[in-house]
Amino acid sequence: MKKFVVGNFKMNTTPTEFSSYLDEFLPRIKECKTNVIFCLPATHFHVAKSRLDATNIKFGAQNISCEESGAYTGEISSAMVKDCGANYTLVGHSEARRHFKETLEVINQKIIRALAVNLKVILCIGETKYERATKKTKISLKRQLDTALKGLYENELKNIIIAYEPIWAIGTGKTPNVKDIESTVNDIRAIIADNFTQRSADKINILYGGSINENNFAQFAKIKGISGLLVGGACLNPKSFANICK
Ligand code: PEP
Repeated sequence: MKKFVVGNFKMNTTPTEFSSYLDEFLPRIKECKTNVIFCLPATHFHVAKSRLDATNIKFGAQNISCEESGAYTGEISSAMVKDCGANYTLVGHSEARRHFKETLEVINQKIIRALAVNLKVILCIGETKYERATKKTKISLKRQLDTALKGLYENELKNIIIAYEPIWAIGTGKTPNVKDIESTVNDIRAIIADNFTQRSADKINILYGGSINENNFAQFAKIKGISGLLVGGACLNPKSFANICK
């Protein structure tokens, strides 16, 4: 099965810098068989569209509005993102939840908006340090998945990728061990099976994200049940990110 590697640029680089980044990145991954996806600031979409169209690399947004259109100054709708040539959007990233106070109900609405315009969703879920310490990881993930996926039809799950990102691992240099991730991925599949069917649970793509870098990625990419990686900080270096993708 083809693996995914998603690079989340967060609020880094200008469009011009991203174009220079691609000058370095693209020649390095010519033979790469991985599904590579860049999650970019919307200001970079025109660069992505013109530079990635002739490649297998896809791009997406880092967030979308939960509203369809209207008086929501500063927001970007799913239809706008799609019209720019994007195929994906992140939804529910812990930084968006923390800084913009996104609730699970809002995340659910965003997923519905994305699917309505044929944008695929990379849904980020993860536990806090406290939840992990008090053995509440599974309960927390269940609450997140139950609400975020509420009202979805089973056949819509094929357009959802789940990114398991422990909040305490994002940008901290800390990671769970391989066994813990394996067991959490099993828990996520069990929750999906409860809400939908075992078949959907078996098929859904689940990524791991949180402090992945060029030196540690291999052990995570090999985890049973993991379809790939979501990379933040380390994707900003084109050489490192190309090595991870390859
Ligand atoms: C992320 O932003 O989703 C992420 C995983 O960041 P980092 O790789 O920097 O921990």
